[in-house]
Amino acid sequence: MRSCRRINEKNEKNDENEKFLSLRRRCISNEFRLPFCLLKQTMNMQHLTNDVKQQIGELSAVAQLLWERGWAESNAGNISINITGKLESFGSGGKHFSQQPLPKQYPGIAKAQILVTGAGTRMRDVAAQPASTLVLIEINQDGSAYSIMQDDINNHGLLPTSELATHLAIYQERCIQKNSVKAIVHTHPTEFIALTHVPELLHEQTLNAVLWKIHPEAMIANPAGIGFVPYILTGTEALAQATVSALRNHSLALWEKHGCIAAAETVGDAFDLIDVANKAAHIYLLCRNAGIVPEGLTDAQLEELRHKAIKAR
Ligand SMILES: [Zn+2]
Repeated sequence: MRSCRRINEKNEKNDENEKFLSLRRRCISNEFRLPFCLLKQTMNMQHLTNDVKQQIGELSAVAQLLWERGWAESNAGNISINITGKLESFGSGGKHFSQQPLPKQYPGIAKAQILVTGAGTRMRDVAAQPASTLVLIEINQDGSAYSIMQDDINNHGLLPTSELATHLAIYQERCIQKNSVKAIVHTHPTEFIALTHVPELLHEQTLNAVLWKIHPEAMIANPAGIGFVPYILTGTEALAQATVSALRNHSLALWEKHGCIAAAETVGDAFDLIDVANKAAHIYLLCRNAGIVPEGLTDAQLEELRHKAIKAR
């Protein structure tokens, strides 16, 4: 009897998992347009606003894409979304863990609430179980510390990603610029990284010209181009500052011999920026592998395209 009940419970659990996976597949195949309403059946997220649930659905779908593209080996990459002011119901019954000091002060984003992937989490797990791989943090009043919030997001004691300083520095800088972004994605796109092993491409201007000329869509999707960050040790304040500087006039930065980071209005938009740049890098490397040094568009064709891209914005 007892084992029968256990089997039935196991089957019900499997059905729930299958329902969740099937919903996520539908979201991915329909470019995130479907509502992620069934999430609440598999996660304790009843109290989150629909907007936040939708954003978590999109984050989860993008995490799956990063994994499928081969850009998120092991626990590589991290994602965050700024959901400040969208947690109306959190106050009732929510718990705040003790404050963790930040290495630097971020007064520009005081009291901000940010949902970020946990340190050491795998993107494939973020895709399948966002509720147990994301950490919800709140910055304190003077921007000198953060506390982990636990209620609807069940983080199982996770700490935020080791690249948290870079995410916070970008949110703060964009807030100061009054050009705020709501989502940040860091990942390891293979061909894009491979370009940083080609010595003659290690200059921002050259790199952008190559990508725009080889794949016109790269100009249409990102006429401001890519910021280039020379190699700096991962997880450091120096990398955070160099990235902030590179993203002052760009939405996408390439980290030499490491990966890239995109800041945009949504996680989906950040993914698109990376996807198009990596496609351009892929075409360039295919040509070089075939023994061709591609000329791409002429300067005149590129200028014509630039005018069209800027006009369309
Ligand atoms: Zn990385």
